[in-house]
Amino acid sequence: MTETKAKPETREFQAEVAKLLDLVVHSLYSNREIFLRELISNASDACDKLRYAALTDSKLLEEGGSDFAIHLTIDNDAKTLSISDNGIGMNHDELIANLGTIAKSGTAEFLKSVSDAKKDVNLIGQFGVGFYSAFMVADKVDVVSRKAGDKQGWIWSSTGQGAFTVGEQDSVARGAKITLHLKEDAAEFLDQHRLRQIVKTYSDHIALPVILDPVKDKEGKESEAETLNSASALWMRAKSDVTAEQYKEFYHHVGHAFDDPWLTVHFRAEGAIEYTALLFIPTQKPFDLFHPERKGHVKLYVNRVFISDQLEGLMPRYLRFVLGVVDSSDLPLNVSREILQSNPTLRKIQSGIVKRLLKDLKDRAEKPEDYKVFWDAFGAVIKEGLYEDFERRDDLLEIARFTSTTSDALISLKDYVARMKEGQEAIYYITGENAAALKASPQLEGFIAKGIEVLLLTDTIDEFWVPMVGTFDKKMFKSVAEAGNDLSKVKSADGTDEGKEEAPADEIKSLIEKLKATLGDSVADVRVSHRLTGSPVVLVADAGGMSLHLARMLKQHGEGADQATRKVLEINPKHVLIKRLEKLDGDALNDAANLLLDQARIVEGETVPDRAAFARRLSAMMERGLT
Ligand code: ADP
Repeated sequence: MTETKAKPETREFQAEVAKLLDLVVHSLYSNREIFLRELISNASDACDKLRYAALTDSKLLEEGGSDFAIHLTIDNDAKTLSISDNGIGMNHDELIANLGTIAKSGTAEFLKSVSDAKKDVNLIGQFGVGFYSAFMVADKVDVVSRKAGDKQGWIWSSTGQGAFTVGEQDSVARGAKITLHLKEDAAEFLDQHRLRQIVKTYSDHIALPVILDPVKDKEGKESEAETLNSASALWMRAKSDVTAEQYKEFYHHVGHAFDDPWLTVHFRAEGAIEYTALLFIPTQKPFDLFHPERKGHVKLYVNRVFISDQLEGLMPRYLRFVLGVVDSSDLPLNVSREILQSNPTLRKIQSGIVKRLLKDLKDRAEKPEDYKVFWDAFGAVIKEGLYEDFERRDDLLEIARFTSTTSDALISLKDYVARMKEGQEAIYYITGENAAALKASPQLEGFIAKGIEVLLLTDTIDEFWVPMVGTFDKKMFKSVAEAGNDLSKVKSADGTDEGKEEAPADEIKSLIEKLKATLGDSVADVRVSHRLTGSPVVLVADAGGMSLHLARMLKQHGEGADQATRKVLEINPKHVLIKRLEKLDGDALNDAANLLLDQARIVEGETVPDRAAFARRLSAMMERGLT
């Protein structure tokens, strides 16, 4: 037989994998035992996958059986530890693709996170590269596998140094067997007690039995096979039977996460539709929260059979940071994912889960410091719901939090409305990249003078949900950056009415005409400002137009939106510079007008379109001034 078999082929690891392996082999020494968690987790996934595939093709279970289990086998003589499963297995091409390349984009981030001072290997699973952690404890790894339904088995083998081999192998059981040739300093993983302790700590919640095979001692006496974990679906146990520690471990398993869950929700819905949900919200923001290809992390089970963690329709996008399990007996088993996705029962389950999560969030929001942890990590994602989920908009508005010109602590819209000034009709907000820069914006001067609170909105999504939502508690959202905010009805902090609009004096009228002529198409209009107190000019978006911040964002993404924004230059008639400008003509006026416009652009965060002209004018101005 052997002589007819093709020689194993040698292949090189994809560059990212080689880099990762180099790091795993040479730099990661602490917490090495997590390799077992990762390999058991892969084995359990492989069994879930086969169980699912067998729903539509029962032949797959004809040999190898339907009693799924994971076996740990110790060979003290060979100094090997094997982890085997009777799951879906891998064929030749899958071995090469799955264990030689990394399809996901997380590797670079993983490499960065472990090369940061902490070298936290725990994160390895989160980045979808858990298999490679085997090389922390082994100087050679063999994977013998046969895919369910196939006849031919394969052996993949590597020392983790740049290359691996794949060749045919006869008499292979269905599934996969990972054999670790342990490094000399990793002999502890041949010890039954150590393995028992590791499995209890990290893999107790795995729903399949993890069985330690009989081990021979020095006298050749064999121990009995022993199941190391509880092997029951954790989510089906009563809440009172699950410890906080077990919830946490389960969270680490489903989420490939390693922080503490910020929120744990475990409940059973009974009635027309029955289901059990065990859901978590992480404390830390996952690295791929805003990657479009981010995978779902809520696994759907139907009667304990894993169906998918990729079902659209189970969790809305704006709750994509939620992890966990939903198990229902009211969903059909033998249908495709596509059909399941549009199943009305699934939609009702979603609605029930979302309702429950939002209620729990509302409760947690009562403790502001605690809630801030959540809001800082996931607030920007929740706000996507304000844009997308009309039905839940009011609930979402209630749990949304903001900083403002008068509060660094997070406030709710209710808080804002309760503090509105007498005569104030709108909820004022300003959008931009960061709160500190926003606070210094001249656009706020009039509001600050009048003691009017302004919300500081710094998430990209803010540009979209605010116009969509329009009002809260019958108060309009109004951007301070839009021209035409009428502050005159609001009394000043000191009770005077200095903001009252007066008809502009003739000098100002003629200055405005001169400025319009000088600045031409660079601005849509020049107007007298009622918002400025300290600055001479400010650039604002015309009422109803696109905000300057949004226009800038679109432009950065190559969607030139210059046409869409009409920029208005507002001038402060009380400012000494503006008063002097009234007396200027010719070049001096031209230079000053353009410089003021450029200055307004810079303050707003725009770029100066003609830097050479800017420098020339500034020099000319200084020359005149410095005589
Ligand atoms: P992840 O499990 O996060 O995808 P891994 O590096 O741990 O990343 O594994 C890579 C891939 O290899 C898995 O997605 C799976 O397709 C395959 N794989 C790993 N272990 C097994 C196994 N025991 N049986 C079948 N396939 C496996």
